[in-house]
Amino acid sequence: MKRRDFIYSLIGTSAICSSSTCNAFLNFHEEAGIIIVGAGGAGLAAAARASELYKGKIVVLEKQSKIGGNTLISGGYLGVVDPKRQGPLMIFDNEEKHFHDIYSKGEKQGDPDLIRTLVRHSPRMLEWIEAQGVQFQNTVIEIYGSHYPRCHVPSLPNGLGYINTLSEKAMENGTEIRKNCKVTTLIRDKNGRVSGVQYTDSSNKLFSLYAKKAVILTAGGFGANTKLVAMYDSRLANLTHNCGPGSTGEVLLAAEKIGCELIQMENIQCLPGVHPTGKIRVRFHNDVSRFILVNSEGNRFTDEGESRNLLKEAVLNQPGKMCFSVIDNDGFNSYDLLMRRDAIRGIESGDAFKGDTLEELAFKMKVPAKNLKKAVQTYNETINKGINNPIIKPPFWSARTSMSIHYTMGGLRINSKAQCLDRTGNVISGLFAAGECTGGIHGKNRIGGNGICDALTYGMIAAESAINTN
Ligand SMILES: Cc1cc2nc3c(=O)[nH]c(=O)nc-3n(C[C@H](O)[C@H](O)[C@H](O)COP(=O)(O)OP(=O)(O)OC[C@H]3O[C@@H](n4cnc5c(N)ncnc54)[C@H](O)[C@@H]3O)c2cc1C
Repeated sequence: MKRRDFIYSLIGTSAICSSSTCNAFLNFHEEAGIIIVGAGGAGLAAAARASELYKGKIVVLEKQSKIGGNTLISGGYLGVVDPKRQGPLMIFDNEEKHFHDIYSKGEKQGDPDLIRTLVRHSPRMLEWIEAQGVQFQNTVIEIYGSHYPRCHVPSLPNGLGYINTLSEKAMENGTEIRKNCKVTTLIRDKNGRVSGVQYTDSSNKLFSLYAKKAVILTAGGFGANTKLVAMYDSRLANLTHNCGPGSTGEVLLAAEKIGCELIQMENIQCLPGVHPTGKIRVRFHNDVSRFILVNSEGNRFTDEGESRNLLKEAVLNQPGKMCFSVIDNDGFNSYDLLMRRDAIRGIESGDAFKGDTLEELAFKMKVPAKNLKKAVQTYNETINKGINNPIIKPPFWSARTSMSIHYTMGGLRINSKAQCLDRTGNVISGLFAAGECTGGIHGKNRIGGNGICDALTYGMIAAESAINTN
């Protein structure tokens, strides 16, 4: 990173705050127009959009040595209403249906204004990112937990298309993206406006950066910070997570220190994943039409097609907070080479089991054979044959499965312009936020495809608001 000589000094202004996080006497090392904290999907959407509309200096600070965050490692599926792709597939979707899916699957805990804004602006976001060069396949699909076929599949794997395209656009327009820069502190001036940030570089040297126009927080969630997760839901202590290492939530805590309100922090999404003592993630649970979950007694205890939060609650209530996913050989063969390889490795590591009969499988799983056979038999007798597949073809397979932390629905309270709000509901001047670091959109349960949709749509909105507000 090139350090500028410019010293912006606020010496002479009178302080209204005495804490170090509200330091009106700070000597800033440097000045920018807009500062964006975090270079994942939301941050890069904000940077690309701001750089189209604003000619001042835009700086993105990313703490990791590479950009992308969870967006990069995500499945990349994007849930947006899109008559152009859904129409030819006879999928009759609309804004109202998208709103209803988010609100009802989130158990009505999401803020209707924020959801309304998301569903209204996401088709515009899709059009905008396609115009920037993000490419998608022509089809839309229903991914696990999305409950409706509106997920777009990017042409490049995972979140690569979003990250490459949006970062290139932002940089073409003059945005600086600085890696290894970890934001530690937010600064409010004597009028209460957020006027800059402090950050450390890779050698732990402290810098301060003044923002003439706005600071936009896009630092993602806190799913990788297992201690913080356990503070909000102690049942999740010691569970594994599948988040990127950047999802540690310190920006949320820094924002709280200067008066931002954090909401719904206890709403933490989990997916079936690797057991805490396990080594290999064996994914027999990916295709809802082919597996059952049984507990350590061999009993089936839930409908596997339930929403993610109900599934989480069901598994957490089982002895040892764990269960087994069970499939037959047709189910095994339906998975791709990588998943089958993981299953074979899982058998070696003790994370998966295989038996020529259900009795042999039960013996290896150390569950009562009578119960496992009954669970499989009842499933086979009661399934909807057109939709689900029976578990009948030997050999039979199972994998030890626990809940794994995936996404944090809580975070900074914002309004529909992506402005951060304080604990009395007032706007904090100069401060905006977007993506997983915000709370109140998804309520108790985020439906599949809406993480990327939220990050990119509110990233775009935050940039537009930052430029048009103040
Ligand atoms: C394995 C996995 C698969 C997923 N698949 C999907 C999917 O297919 N579809 C979907 O809709 N959602 C999916 N999600 C959820 C989705 O990835 C997130 O909702 C989305 O990426 C959040 O984007 P974001 O920009 O808010 O955060 P991120 O993309 O995580 O970006 C946040 C960035 O901020 C940086 N940062 C954090 N703290 C600081 C700091 N102090 N200073 C500077 N930088 C900081 C981080 O390093 C990171 O780069 C998935 C999540 C996971 C974990």
